[in-house]
Amino acid sequence: MLVFSLVVMLVGVGLLFKIPSRGIWAMLGVFWLGLVGAHLVTFPQPNPVTRATGGTLFAWVALGLVVALVQLYRVGLAWLRARALPKAPQSPAPAQGVGAPASFGPTELDRYARHIVLREIGGAGQKRLKNAKVLVVGAGGLGSPVLLYLAAAGVGTIGVIDDDVVSNSNLQRQVIHTDARIGQPKVFSAQIALAALNPFVEVRPYNRRLTEAEASALFADYDLILDGSDNFATRYLVNEAAVCVGKPLISGAIAQWEGQLGLYDPARDAPCYACVFPHAPAAGLAPACAEAGVVGALPGVVGAMMAVEAIKEITGAGQSLRGRLLIYDALWGENRQIAVKRRADCVVCGTRENWTGATAGPNVGPNR
Ligand SMILES: [Zn+2]
Repeated sequence: MLVFSLVVMLVGVGLLFKIPSRGIWAMLGVFWLGLVGAHLVTFPQPNPVTRATGGTLFAWVALGLVVALVQLYRVGLAWLRARALPKAPQSPAPAQGVGAPASFGPTELDRYARHIVLREIGGAGQKRLKNAKVLVVGAGGLGSPVLLYLAAAGVGTIGVIDDDVVSNSNLQRQVIHTDARIGQPKVFSAQIALAALNPFVEVRPYNRRLTEAEASALFADYDLILDGSDNFATRYLVNEAAVCVGKPLISGAIAQWEGQLGLYDPARDAPCYACVFPHAPAAGLAPACAEAGVVGALPGVVGAMMAVEAIKEITGAGQSLRGRLLIYDALWGENRQIAVKRRADCVVCGTRENWTGATAGPNVGPNR
């Protein structure tokens, strides 16, 4: 009884002063040594200490051995797990811009465990995600799920550019923002949400509208661009800058009940956005969400698919959307695919010799 209350007291003191479990075990070990020592001094004759603690020397030694064996087993298991996890069976082709080694602490290993067990991602893919730098244009309907899932997936550096502030009518679909953050710039609201979700990722907010002056220089800093902007001027500008610096672009769009996404990458022989959509629709033919409406969960579907494509692109898993346009019709619950090709006469990525990225085309110019 005395021993039991002493042990409870020791553990209680340990927890009270927030001593790590290793420290508590050390205290218990010292206590056990003292106990066995007290038995040993007068062995085999009992003394006051041995009478008070009950049991025999052999019982105490046996108990100590059992506890030591259990601890040894746990430490061994943890060591094996830490060794086994980062070694994925497959190592797909590395994404560009991903080179520096990244290492994971035990918390991160546990956080990404469901990725690491996937054959197509594994420890190697998770490291690529950590080393990856992804820029998201727009922190609205599509940007919300894109940003949340990229941060949750452990994409190490996430840039987000948007000049808008959170408004009441955004919250029907832009789930990264909250009622309490109405009036705040969207990029800072998003930054708060991402930091709360995953403190292991770096978020770089750019609270401004993407301009032609800085687009190329900004994009050059990232491995992959995701466009969830809500207007054609930005869409075409994003495409041109991505083509200019040779970075793959995952672009998504939504309207009412329908969404689409594609991966544009003329540097690797896939079409660019302007190859597929050479002209922006005439004003009025493609009204923005504000006028046409959009079902709130739709950007969730399309944005999450963009995030999946980004994860695939970074880790090299599966088949990318290069050369394919994916269309989702929510009203009928249908998916369609369209094969798309590069156009030699494309004003953005066409096969012209001295193309500079600043050449004017039908969608290029001061009116954008
Ligand atoms: Zn093109």
